[in-house]
This record gives sequence, structure tokens and C-alpha cells, in this order.
Amino acid sequence: MSPEEFRAAAHEAVDWIADYLRDARQYPVLPRIQPGQLIDCLPKAGPERGEPIEVILRDFRERIVPATTHWNHPRFLAYFANSASGPGILGEMLCAALNSNHMLWKTGPAAAELEQVALGWLRQWLGLPQEFFGMIHDTASSATMHSVMAAREAAAPQVRISGEYPPLILYTSEHANLSVDRAALTAGIGLNHIRHVAIDDEFRMIPAVLETAIKSDLAGGKKPFCVVPTLGTTSSASLDPLPAIAAVARRYGLWLHVDAAYAGPAALLDEYKRILEGVESADSLVVNPHKWLFTPMDLSILYTRRPEVFRRALSMEETPAYIETAGGERAVNFSEYALSLGRRFRALKLWFVLRYYGREGIERILREHIRIAHNLAAWISRDPGFELAAPAMFSLVCFRFRGTDEQNRELLERVNATGQAFLSGTMLNGRFVLRAAIGNIGTTAADVEAVWRLVKDAGRACA
Ligand code: PLP
Repeated sequence: MSPEEFRAAAHEAVDWIADYLRDARQYPVLPRIQPGQLIDCLPKAGPERGEPIEVILRDFRERIVPATTHWNHPRFLAYFANSASGPGILGEMLCAALNSNHMLWKTGPAAAELEQVALGWLRQWLGLPQEFFGMIHDTASSATMHSVMAAREAAAPQVRISGEYPPLILYTSEHANLSVDRAALTAGIGLNHIRHVAIDDEFRMIPAVLETAIKSDLAGGKKPFCVVPTLGTTSSASLDPLPAIAAVARRYGLWLHVDAAYAGPAALLDEYKRILEGVESADSLVVNPHKWLFTPMDLSILYTRRPEVFRRALSMEETPAYIETAGGERAVNFSEYALSLGRRFRALKLWFVLRYYGREGIERILREHIRIAHNLAAWISRDPGFELAAPAMFSLVCFRFRGTDEQNRELLERVNATGQAFLSGTMLNGRFVLRAAIGNIGTTAADVEAVWRLVKDAGRACA
């Protein structure tokens, strides 16, 4: 592709992106397609001869876009809604252009240093301890997997050499994200060695139950090694009581990994600083800018007080010659702290986002999301046909139609089938409930009002 051909095609692609961002509401949030439909309409084999870029871009518009679920739609309120903001998209484009790979400082000095700068800024804004070292992962699942591996290294360093495990036990809550269990599985801990600690009536881990479980495991000859509380659980955005859990972790010498993948950014706001109370004694913490910080997928941050443990967990008897590098103290080789050798220049898009909006701009958007979520919660609690299913936390509202689970599932299907909004569901207290998660940068009060009207209409149809 010549630079001139690239320039023309890139202008076309960027025009498409700008129109897409402007007109996002005109797309159905959920595509109206059946599984396999896209596969069936694409060629069964790749092209023998290269094709013109105009044809590829046309197929992107006509085939790929209609088969896409639009996470960037302002009425996407399912799961934890996220955003590819303008500055984030630009950062992502330039990241692809540079194609930098900072497995070593030398192979990507800008990426290695910008990762420290951007994560350092965010660390300050969140009020995290200055000694926390940050590294970027693709997802919170990877970040947590690395933390569990580091926790294992800290508790049982012989495993790295022998592969023989003592009976290590990991504790998390009944409402922890499945990524915690998978992290433990990947680190070789075994499902029988994961304890899901009971929650209270607001879906928060109960520290006294945690402590009882630890004592019982110790009495049974087991080796408690790690506890993972969540700030902003997936189902209801509940907050496990970090100070009390941190105290238990300290008492029994457990690695404390905090999953703040969704709610972490709220700590930018003075009124939410308290959610990180107790974090100073955490060994590691994960927060996802690709959830509620307007950064396109994917970018998750792992902060740790003990980076040397991550490095030790992944170190070998001998470093292969092809990766050896001379470096000074300031040359951070990120691949020493994580499984993947190659690393994308993800920090670039985060740096664009942090600079473009600034701390004040980000705070304004987060506050507005929280405000409109709480408006929705107020409408729901005043409507005799509906009820809140959990306290409205941050920008998430869990609610249900006053009817059966079946009716609630039908209501959800009806709303989502309109193509005008996308909500998701979960189980709370054994009942199916609906979730409205506000997190897209384009979502306005008017969007939330429109979604609430759709929900009420669907409720009438299901009654
Ligand atoms: N932790 C929490 C609380 C989550 O809600 C999620 C996903 O929604 C995750 C972790 C996993 O995040 P990721 O998709 O980045 O692996």
C-alpha cells in the first residue's frame, strides 16, 4: 500500500468513524442477525489475489457493521458499558501505526516510559500510594491471573521450581467476578481450593466469615495465601469492606489483591475517595480504563506494591541470550513482570484520554453518569410496577419488574429486541433482575429517560 493510497483510504475510514460517532444512536444496539449469518455470507476461502481497499471498506460497512453489537451506542447499558472516546480512538490508531513493542525498554523506550507516566498520573488522581508500580494488561482477567501467580510466589516460592503445590487456599466473595476463579485455576490452585465467602444483604463480603474460613482452613492443615475483595462487583457494584478485609489479610499474612476493575475510577471523585480506604496495605489492585475511563478496549492496569515478586514468579534459571539486555536502573523491561513478551503501546491511548479530558473533565463525566443513574433509580423506586433490587451504586442500577422471573426475562427480551437499548440481567437473592449500567461517554439524561420509557412500555406488555 503506497503512502498515497493509504492516505486516501485513511481519510475515508476516519470520515466513517466521525459519522459513526455522530450517528451512533441510529444503529440498532444489538444486531439483527442470527448466529452463523455473517460466516455464511463471507467467502469460504481467502482471496488468491489482493482486493482493492475500497471494496474491503465497503464490505466493512455493509457486512461487518450490521453484525456488530454497538458498545459505543449511548443506549448500550448492558454489562459494564464502556466507550471508545475520540482521543482514545486516535491513540489506538497511532499505536497501530507505530507498532512499537516494548518487551524491553530498548525495543520501545517511548512506550515503556509513557506507561510509567500515564499510570503515574492516574495513581496520583486515584490517591494510591506512590510506591505502587503500574503495568498495563489487556484485561482485568489477565491482571488478576498475574496477581494470583505473584501471591503463590510469595507464599510458596518452591512451587516455581518443583511444580509441587502445598494446599494453597484463595478467598473471594460469592459475588466476585469469574475472572478471580479463572485466575486461580490458571495459577494451578484448583477449584476445591477457592472459598467463596458469604455476603451480607447488600452483597458485600462478610469479614468475620472470611476470618472463620481462614481459621478453619489453618486448623485443617491448609495454607491460606490470597484474598480478593471487589470494589464494584459485577452483579450489583457492591463494595466489599476493604479496611476490615485488609486487616484480616494482614493478620494472617495473605496477599491482598483488590478487584476495582469497574468502580476504581470513581476514586477520582472526592466524594468517592473513601472506597479505596485500606488500599495502602493491598499487594495489588486492578482497575480497567476500558470500562469506565473512556479508553477503547483493551486496557487494564495492575498496580502493585511488590513488583519484584511478579518478576521473581516469572524468572527462569537462565535468561535466554536473545532477550538479554543491558539496562540502567531507569530502563524498565515490562516483559519481566508479565507472561507476554510482546506488548502493545496501549499507554498511548490512555495518555490521549487523560490529557484531552483532564482530571476535571473526567470527573465531570463520571459525576454525570452517577447522577443520571441515580435519577433512574429514583424513578424506579417511585413506580409501583418496579422495584430496586440493590442499592444503586456508582452508575449501575439493578431493578426488577414486580412480577415473576419469567416476566422479567421477557421484559428484557422486549427492550433489547427494539434495537433502541441494550440492558443485561443477573441473579440477586435468587431472583432474576435487570441491570442498567451507564458508562458510555455519549450517554445523556435524555437517553436514560428514553430507556426508562421503553422499560415501562415493555413492563405493561409483560403484565
Ligand atoms: N472484575 C470485575 C468486577 C468485572 O466486572 C469484570 C468484567 O466485567 C472483570 C473483573 C473482568 O474484566 P475483563 O473483561 O477486563 O477481564
